Amino acid sequence: MVEVQHLLSKYILEISKVKDEGTLYAALSEITKKVLNYEVLNVLKDGAIVHSDPHMEIDRTVYADFVPWVEERLSPSFVPVEDGFVGLIPIFKGTKVLSMVVLKTPNEPTSETMDYLQLVAYLSGVTLENLRLLEFVDKARGYFESILNLANDGIVVLSGGTTEFANTKAKMLFDEYPELLVLIMSNITGEEGSFELELGKLFLSVFVKPVRLLGEEKLLVGLRNITSEKEVQKLRELDKIKTNFIANISHELRTPLAAIKAYTETIINTEMNHEEIMEFLNIVYEQSLKLEQLLNDLLDFSQMESHTMKLIKEEVNLCVVMNQALDTVRNLALQKKVEIQAECDNNLSVICDPRRMEQVLVNLLSNAIKFSDDKKKNKYVKVRISKVSPDMVEITVEDNGIGIPNDKLDKIFDKFYRVDSELTYSIPGTGLGLAIVKEIVELHNGEIAVLSEEGIGSTFTVRIPTRDPEKE
Ligand code: ADP
Repeated sequence: MVEVQHLLSKYILEISKVKDEGTLYAALSEITKKVLNYEVLNVLKDGAIVHSDPHMEIDRTVYADFVPWVEERLSPSFVPVEDGFVGLIPIFKGTKVLSMVVLKTPNEPTSETMDYLQLVAYLSGVTLENLRLLEFVDKARGYFESILNLANDGIVVLSGGTTEFANTKAKMLFDEYPELLVLIMSNITGEEGSFELELGKLFLSVFVKPVRLLGEEKLLVGLRNITSEKEVQKLRELDKIKTNFIANISHELRTPLAAIKAYTETIINTEMNHEEIMEFLNIVYEQSLKLEQLLNDLLDFSQMESHTMKLIKEEVNLCVVMNQALDTVRNLALQKKVEIQAECDNNLSVICDPRRMEQVLVNLLSNAIKFSDDKKKNKYVKVRISKVSPDMVEITVEDNGIGIPNDKLDKIFDKFYRVDSELTYSIPGTGLGLAIVKEIVELHNGEIAVLSEEGIGSTFTVRIPTRDPEKE
């Protein structure tokens, strides 16, 4: 009895480790052999022999009639045959017979052996059911994984900062963009939400949802590739910009051209004295300057696009440059009734391209004048150039004009961008000025920033180094 108990505990240990049905049946026949010396043992599942020791079949006709009865009783039974006994041991879980052990032995089993066999059958049934459940879970897992792998979106489960699961699409993205996972992690707050990511040419919409799976807090992350949507959006924006640009440029060309045409026609067809002719010719001259300016902007733009804009640097006094710029915008300021206040520190010698720096100042000043606020009594523009440190110069152009809406501030340096509002629609421009200004400032290793409040005014600040770092 002690030996049987020992065998049983050994059996329990053994079957707790089995990974498949074959190993379970081998362990089952081994222990049965030790307790009840059988001649042949067959294990039948759905009528087929799935295990046999030795390799031979017990004649089914001798026990077939008893099978339904044993299956109903759910306990081992022995049938006397010519040269011994045939034992039927159902392996079951609940009322379900999972398989049937059939064995042939020369000796009648004792009641103790029968108890033992009952116990072995029960333990084997539990193990068998567990194996089947595991197999089912494995299959179900494979099934759901295949479904997740078919998804067009990347699906990732993060647990404690590591990837616990990633479907095929997510794996493909991580393979192609090794830095993507770190980028996603750095954007995750742990709260449910979504954000967009840009990585090279890839645009992703990322959705994050905290979930509780198997008692653990995890993050479910969905990755949707929105690159093509973004490209279409960009193309649409470009298309809109192109249409606007053509409309603007036509307008910018037509206005001075119409003026030149009208004034020269008047000069040709009307009797005028010298003074009147000079007055008209001055207007023609001014309009031709506008055309020249437009052409220059377009040339600068094409240089900017092809990255061929070059600076011709020399040591210059920025105050002189500022005065030249002021001369250029003086007439516009008079027309718009804007007062200009200028301040410049002494000894402002800077290594820069004077023609380009003048262009920067003219652009900022004429914008400040153009976008002045007609509702205000004292319209002003203040330009100030000063040294903020031994090697840094700061130019500020401040106005009390119409200001720029907050949500448009980051766009005004984009090429062709113009704030589209009731206040701006009649003001001429191509939307190229600030893009060119920014390019020139950056070519000087400087930076430009803007502060503005709608209805109050704007301040543009340019900083450039006084020395040329490339030459030092
Ligand atoms: P443009 O002057 O040809 O329209 P810019 O590139 O110089 O183009 O400026 C872009 C846009 O920024 C302008 O159309 C205007 O809406 C806005 N802007 C620039 N400067 C000012 C300013 N000082 N005050 C208000 N709005 C401004």
